[in-house]
Amino acid sequence: MTKTLPLSDHSQKFASPVSTAFLDRLAQVLASRQILLTKAQREAYAWDNTGIRAVPDCVVLVENREQVVGVLRLCNDMDVPVIPRGAGTGNVGGALASFGGLVISTQRMNKIVEIASDDRLVVVEPGVVNGELQTALSSYGLFWPPDPSSSKSCTIGGNIAMCAAGPGAVRYGVTRDWVLGLQAVLADGTVINTGGRTSKGVVGYDMTRLLIGSEGTLAVVTQATLKLAPKPTARRLSRVVFSSVAAATKAVAKLMTTASPPSAIEFLDGASLNLLRQESDLLIPDDGRAMLLLEVAGGKDDIANQAQEVSQCVALFSPLEQTTAVGSEEAEEVWAARYALSPILKKMAPKRINEDVVVPVSKLSLLIEGLEDIAADINIPIINFGHAGNGNIHVNLLVDPDDPVIMAKVKPALARIFKLVLKLDGSLSGEHGVGTQKREYIEWEVGRESLLLQRSIKTVFDPKGIMNPGKIFPNM
Ligand SMILES: Cc1cc2nc3c(=O)[nH]c(=O)nc-3n(C[C@H](O)[C@H](O)[C@H](O)COP(=O)(O)OP(=O)(O)OC[C@H]3O[C@@H](n4cnc5c(N)ncnc54)[C@H](O)[C@@H]3O)c2cc1C
Repeated sequence: MTKTLPLSDHSQKFASPVSTAFLDRLAQVLASRQILLTKAQREAYAWDNTGIRAVPDCVVLVENREQVVGVLRLCNDMDVPVIPRGAGTGNVGGALASFGGLVISTQRMNKIVEIASDDRLVVVEPGVVNGELQTALSSYGLFWPPDPSSSKSCTIGGNIAMCAAGPGAVRYGVTRDWVLGLQAVLADGTVINTGGRTSKGVVGYDMTRLLIGSEGTLAVVTQATLKLAPKPTARRLSRVVFSSVAAATKAVAKLMTTASPPSAIEFLDGASLNLLRQESDLLIPDDGRAMLLLEVAGGKDDIANQAQEVSQCVALFSPLEQTTAVGSEEAEEVWAARYALSPILKKMAPKRINEDVVVPVSKLSLLIEGLEDIAADINIPIINFGHAGNGNIHVNLLVDPDDPVIMAKVKPALARIFKLVLKLDGSLSGEHGVGTQKREYIEWEVGRESLLLQRSIKTVFDPKGIMNPGKIFPNM
């Protein structure tokens, strides 16, 4: 496992989007209110959830597909890099203008075009916010299952580009399982349509799935046809505390083999429990070393049976405590404590490095043990929690970027973590993607041949390499 493809920068390769010639042509495509050029305006698009800042040279606020076509055609003609952007909540630098260029924000393309409840589908523009879509669908008794924790602000375009997911993935899968078709604009302005409005269809290559997770490196998504699911009418949440990680993770593996596994299986390690003891009102037994949050969802009539089956299954692993939330308010309090972990971590250290590795469920215990060993060796706190039903764990290293001794240990520690994950047959990212942050490691996972093939595919879509340069690939 050595990295062979060098990282490249693009500073010499591209043209500036602020030449008079470029701006003159841009003014023929967009109104002046849609073109942001002042430093203050551009700085508002210089961030994402990595904490890294990269100020673009120009930002455009497109309002329809024709404008996307016009902007891309112009950028392709004049060799200007294009960075698609939704709400900017990404965790890997995907929406950052790492080498300058033009940010194309799709936030204003935010119409729900059609809700076809009989066909259980919805057609949306990319700037629709995930949570707002769920609200619009609820009166139809339907929902779109991808449920990233950022759902109140992230956009459907960003969800598609990153193949986002959340706790519900254990039952429903991820974004790629809930998209029927896409409309997208390629680098040269060509509009393509993929998939359709049916839940089956096997004609030609699966271009929809190729675009999903492509992190804005192949095309700008301008419309999506999303598959919907009936919304459960009842939910019940239990929290189960174990004296060891091994018992908790064995319980997860067993739960996943039951006839109706929970709709969410969240894991918190001992370090996470210590934080909750200090910072929340949850009462957690002192000898608790791991906790599972188990949610069942379904109809009002069968929810009690589902909860009982889960409880019986978990009892086989001798938990210290099993409590079921009474009513939705108490359940919300428990979920709130789980979601408070990220902000709490931000308070604990000047910087949190948040990886989202994933391993087969049967290897979870080995993963957590390995992470504990690494934390002890390097003397940096590592806090682990996440979507255990998918084996997807958020690994949080708490560091001080101003401490050179600590920072010198970070890169080797990440390399150790990634090697551990790959040894356990896992993947470097379950949700967050590659972006700028993991591109130097991608070859470790996919191998050189596959990486070269992926790069060739990128070249077919985007021969001049203007689409989101510096993302995914080590040398593009
Ligand atoms: C508090 C918090 C919690 C989070 N929790 C989760 C979680 O549970 N699960 C999860 O998966 N992620 C999570 N994330 C990460 C992030 O929210 C998701 O990746 C989300 O899908 C990004 O959506 P966005 O609209 O913010 O996209 P952006 O951050 O703006 O962009 C992300 C990527 O998508 C591309 N892109 C955006 N729009 C388009 C488009 N129209 N066409 C082509 N490419 C496009 C960009 O170029 C970029 O590469 C979390 C982030 C935060 C801040």
